Amino acid sequence: MTAPAHARTSADLIRAEEPVLAHNYHPLPVVVARAEGAWVEDVEGRRYLDMLAGYSALNFGHRHPALIQAAHDQLDRLTLTSRAFHNDRLAEFAERLAALTGLDMVLPMNTGAEAVESGIKVARKWAYDVKGVPEGQATIVVAADNFHGRTTTIVSFSTDESARAGFGPFTPGFRIVPYNDLAALEEAVDETTAAVLIEPIQGEAGVIIPDAGYLTGVRELTRREGCLFIADEIQSGLGRTGRTLAVEHESVVPDVLLLGKALGGGIVPVSAVVARREVMGVLGPGEHGSTFGGNPLAAAVGTAVIELLETGEFQRRADELGLVLREGLQALEGHGVTGFRARGLWAGVDVDPALGTGREISERLMREGILVKDTHGSTIRLAPPLTVTADEVRSALGTLEKVLGQAG
Ligand SMILES: *Cc1c(COP(=O)(O)O)cnc(C)c1O
Repeated sequence: MTAPAHARTSADLIRAEEPVLAHNYHPLPVVVARAEGAWVEDVEGRRYLDMLAGYSALNFGHRHPALIQAAHDQLDRLTLTSRAFHNDRLAEFAERLAALTGLDMVLPMNTGAEAVESGIKVARKWAYDVKGVPEGQATIVVAADNFHGRTTTIVSFSTDESARAGFGPFTPGFRIVPYNDLAALEEAVDETTAAVLIEPIQGEAGVIIPDAGYLTGVRELTRREGCLFIADEIQSGLGRTGRTLAVEHESVVPDVLLLGKALGGGIVPVSAVVARREVMGVLGPGEHGSTFGGNPLAAAVGTAVIELLETGEFQRRADELGLVLREGLQALEGHGVTGFRARGLWAGVDVDPALGTGREISERLMREGILVKDTHGSTIRLAPPLTVTADEVRSALGTLEKVLGQAG
């Protein structure tokens, strides 16, 4: 009844999804069939520069040769054991991830949301076992406009109504304060507080960069108040901002670090909670787990990702190309761009609403061979693979200029 995939056009495939695929996304009308580096190709063979990079899951580009090689090698040896047994790839992955992040112990999971959930569980258990918070009383302080994932507990402390409406009842135990506001944080933290959980840069909110000193302030406040600092670096981490971790811009080390997205090299879902020994040490056998977490394929790919980051090349590229990106965006300010925030190879760009919504701008860019995604309103996010070239970044900005010139 259905034609083989290779015989179906993009339009056919988009139409075919409608009755059978949950409508929880509103993708741009492009059907990607293959990709390499910073470029993807659709079913009809049209090429696009990928300026989204899978929300930073593709920091090393599509199908980076070293990562593909690591995956192939591992596929030929061993793919899954479950944690009922040891596998021969997990020790190295954990050792190197701990060393890379300056922390001690790794809890391997799969998706970002699972890492956040796991970090919350670890923090609560730490609050009861170590801090002495009365059972059932632990609180976690989070920031408004956060994005930490989509599970029922995580949407419980979202301030985005479309993420929450219809999904209650919600998990209690969270306090929400404005982002980038140390006084509000101080006010919210008390003797029940297990942790402060924030993104060092708020990605989905539009690449919101806190004031210099905020992360240092969070670190000092949490230490002084005797609660944990959990940094969700699932999107900001692993090279994106020009450092291995965004917290490094203020030389801050959190107690608990959440990683995901790029940790899987764009190949498999790999996430992790990385923490100080005194914190992760609260978990005992049977108290947490995941069938797929720490599987040998994930560990092999994750180790290859860490190896790439150990060279420093990608962090350096993000730094250098970030300069090109910022200069280009500065030139567009007042010419359709009303403002932007950028760190490393990552920018939130506010487009003059008179020229179109973020969605409309994204669609026009798509027709010109550039893939981006709006966040909300008239903000688009630029986050190309860190393998992109300076010329490709300039060319993408040239296309943005052209699209903004046409609009309205
Ligand atoms: C994407 C993201 C998550 C959730 O990751 P999933 O793999 O989609 O579950 C959590 N936190 C941040 C900061 C993210 O950007």
